[in-house]
Amino acid sequence: MSRQFFTTWLEKEGLSLSKHQLKQFDEYFHLLVEWNKKMNLTGITEEDEVYEKHFYDSLTVAFFHDFTKVKKVIDIGAGAGFPSLPLKIAYPHLEVVIVDSLKKRITFLEHVAEHIGIDKVQFMHGRAEELARKKELREQFDVALARAVARMPVLTELCLPFVQKNGSFLAMKGASGLEEKEEAGKAISQLGGKWGEAYSLKLPGEESERSILKVEKVKETPKAYPRKPGTPAKQPIV
Ligand code: SAM
Repeated sequence: MSRQFFTTWLEKEGLSLSKHQLKQFDEYFHLLVEWNKKMNLTGITEEDEVYEKHFYDSLTVAFFHDFTKVKKVIDIGAGAGFPSLPLKIAYPHLEVVIVDSLKKRITFLEHVAEHIGIDKVQFMHGRAEELARKKELREQFDVALARAVARMPVLTELCLPFVQKNGSFLAMKGASGLEEKEEAGKAISQLGGKWGEAYSLKLPGEESERSILKVEKVKETPKAYPRKPGTPAKQPIV
């Protein structure tokens, strides 16, 4: 059902996909299911569910932020490619850097990108805490994205250092995301951000709730951040 309604739901939000883009989603789905048999990529493998809970869900961020005006995006902890690979398929002009600390997931994503034929995408195996210290990545992106990686105080330390001034960090959360707003205030101001808008939505078919929290980068992140790997999670800035 969800697979069938995928394009209709997206069109309602003003996003039309070409036959070529739909073919890319189809190939991505088949590769995800095939590779998931030999490695742990996702608990969701049924076609309708993948289309709604992974593909459509990843694209919801574009309902609230205009990706036609965005150039450089980084996705921290992308796992099997969410949200950045669906976004890259829907917005082919984007220059995307996809980060994950698990090498086998990066290997999978490289295979998908080659198979479905996308360019201007770079895969990086590593921890965000270390990659954010690289000159070519620090404060370089219009948008940093993360879905289902950590709670807001931790996630802010992992993502905000990559965002350039006037750029945005968009955190994709479940129903309880809005509750995390309170606990992240200190981390956000300490890392050079300020709260932007927060959005709530429901997935159109199975109706589970989602929230998207926006943080705007207003000044440079102090050199002390992010702290060394593991420290943001062990001693969150709260
Ligand atoms: N974003 C994907 C999604 O929504 O399906 C994957 C979510 S998965 C629960 C979290 C991913 O973040 C894992 O693939 C993990 O390897 C990665 N990860 C966790 N901490 C990280 C860090 N500090 N740096 C880079 N990747 C990290």
